[in-house]
Amino acid sequence: SLRRQIRLTADASHEMRTPISVILATSQFALAKERTAEVYQKSFRTCADTAQHMRQLTDSLLELSEIDSSKFTLDLEKHSFTHDLVTTIDLIKPLAKQRQISIRADLPDDDVSATYDSQRIRQVLLNLLSNAVKYNNDGGAIHISLTANETHLNFIVRDNGVGISEENLPHIFDRFFRTDKARTTAKGSSVGLGLSITKSIVDAHKGTLLAESWENEGSRFTMTLPR
Ligand code: ADP
Repeated sequence: SLRRQIRLTADASHEMRTPISVILATSQFALAKERTAEVYQKSFRTCADTAQHMRQLTDSLLELSEIDSSKFTLDLEKHSFTHDLVTTIDLIKPLAKQRQISIRADLPDDDVSATYDSQRIRQVLLNLLSNAVKYNNDGGAIHISLTANETHLNFIVRDNGVGISEENLPHIFDRFFRTDKARTTAKGSSVGLGLSITKSIVDAHKGTLLAESWENEGSRFTMTLPR
């Protein structure tokens, strides 16, 4: 656990270096002499985008340290998973629409309920669904399905986006792991902590999370949760 903490601190400091250098260099450049309004505007934009990325990073780090701490508990109650899923799909619809990505959801007619921490599982759903948009191609498709039996529910999200190579697939739940493709396609929005947080939350629920992927064809994430 101590080794893990030391590693996290080292990784986090390393991840902070690039955005800090960007903000420093950009502001020093803008301040070096009188610039045009356009140059100031561009510099502020770069600083704002970079600070936004840092905020995402620090928010995720705080969350990870909470998850790692002994105080981490789940607020378990019976909830409608169908409702949480539909609400989350509605949240990502505008993002998908912007890039002409279609979303199809096959949900059972009967409401699927289970005992889980609603806030945390919504976060899991948001992460998996937003990745399916982020790592998709413009005009791509996302297929969501939900099934349930007496003891478990089974949630699948499939996209036909960029996919993950065989070599990278075993590492996607590692902290700070990002593929080179993610660094270029998702640019500032990629921090590399989403899936590791997601996996910890699913594990804490005694559920399972499986990733399958085919490079340039797409990915499928399957989550099972005990009901
Ligand atoms: P982030 O999206 O912030 O980079 P995540 O932890 O959510 O971090 O994902 C880790 C990496 O796994 C991503 O950088 C990306 O390379 C890959 N990945 C995650 N979801 C998908 C997906 N649906 N399709 C392709 N690659 C994905």
